[in-house]
Amino acid sequence: MRTDAARLWVEACSLISKELPEKDYETWILELNPASFEDDTLTLEAPFGLFRDRVRQAFLPAIERAVSVAADRRCRVAVVVGSFGGTRPTGREKPRPTGERSVRTTAGLTNKKTFENFIVGESNRLAWLGAQQLADGKVHAGNPLFLYGGVGLGKTHLLLAIQNRLKKRGRRVLYYQGEEFTRKMVEALRLDRMEQFRNEFKVADALLIDDVQFIAGKKRTQQEFYHAFNFLHGAGKPIALASDRGPGDLEALEYGLQSRFQGGLLADVASLDDDLRVRILKAKAQEAGLGLADILIERIAVRLQGSVRDIEGLVLRLRAATTHQGADLDERLIETLIAPYVASSAPITLDKVIDTVAWVYGITRAELLSRDRSRRVAWPRHVAAYLCRKLTNSSLPEIGEVLGGRNHTSVLRAVRSVADRVSGDAAFASRLREIEGMLGHVPDPRM
Ligand code: ADP
Ligand code: MG
Repeated sequence: MRTDAARLWVEACSLISKELPEKDYETWILELNPASFEDDTLTLEAPFGLFRDRVRQAFLPAIERAVSVAADRRCRVAVVVGSFGGTRPTGREKPRPTGERSVRTTAGLTNKKTFENFIVGESNRLAWLGAQQLADGKVHAGNPLFLYGGVGLGKTHLLLAIQNRLKKRGRRVLYYQGEEFTRKMVEALRLDRMEQFRNEFKVADALLIDDVQFIAGKKRTQQEFYHAFNFLHGAGKPIALASDRGPGDLEALEYGLQSRFQGGLLADVASLDDDLRVRILKAKAQEAGLGLADILIERIAVRLQGSVRDIEGLVLRLRAATTHQGADLDERLIETLIAPYVASSAPITLDKVIDTVAWVYGITRAELLSRDRSRRVAWPRHVAAYLCRKLTNSSLPEIGEVLGGRNHTSVLRAVRSVADRVSGDAAFASRLREIEGMLGHVPDPRM
């Protein structure tokens, strides 16, 4: 079912992309997820309510036309808020028109995937270096290049960057999605065109296979792939593969492919650290023309979870909201918008309480933990103490320790003074609940 919807959507997308201005297409259409196709109705998921409404208002006729053409009969399209609207984003792959893969992105933020716009940190440096070496023809250093890691962390980006650079150098590059390889081969078998299929490899200067995990377990595909691989590898042609796990964890890999894959450079793309996360959010926000102050971006970034793709989704979301509001985003709205992207099920830590409280009161963490006793920073400190006590299992001495080395009686005093105010000041109490919401449960972002 899902693949039906996905396939139909891919075809429809390529029609829609010709009809709509590129910016609209990238901002609104590429962000939709095909959920199901039943009774001639294609259901598309939008990330949140305002988004859904805008798509319905502005693009529904164009979408229905394209889907009907793609399906060869009159179809209807339903746009709903997707399951990822209320929970953390999943980083699901979105279909994009084949052949345009290299110029479309999830969030439509970057047109081209290159080495230059790949942001490098500790977690992806080896992959980035290995990919560049390969693209520059230094194959002896690591051929094949095997990139692996979780979804949305830049593997496809690097493969496309390799492709772009090789093409610039006039090389003929074969680029396949894992599934696409199988599909093409099955088709060639059916149409009795294996010769042609194989010839493509014979004339290629480089082979790039994305999501190679999809060929594991498929005997015939692997066999064919093995021959192609050996042929090109033997000829010293660059080969790069990407997978969601390392070759050792690809079960059902036959014909010695496992050891072949392990014979070159294995480079994992690990999840983001805070530093890289901040730099990526900054870059993507800038590309999208979001006028958020650096300091705000940093505060958001450190609270985020998830992959680069998630970050792009968030940026898109922030941008869509500014388009709607026609105004600057205030902190309350930002809080709502980022809610699905920040840690939610993770236990509340003292650090998180401190960071969030500092953020809410507009002071730095260092100020909150300092000896400064002016009310501007002392009060937030008391609030932090209160919330640490209420929301974590830490003892008073432990809380005093992280709050800049205070003794437990002063922590207790702080907790009591905040508790007093909570019971006497309804407005403050509700503000405090809001902060607790930020730390704990995710408010429903559907609007
Ligand atoms: P994967 O193939 O690992 O699932 P992608 O390569 O599709 O992930 O990356 C998801 C999105 O994040 C893409 O739009 C990609 O351009 C972007 N991206 C990933 N890593 C980086 C990075 N280090 N710098 C800039 N953009 C990145
Ligand atoms: Mg990928």
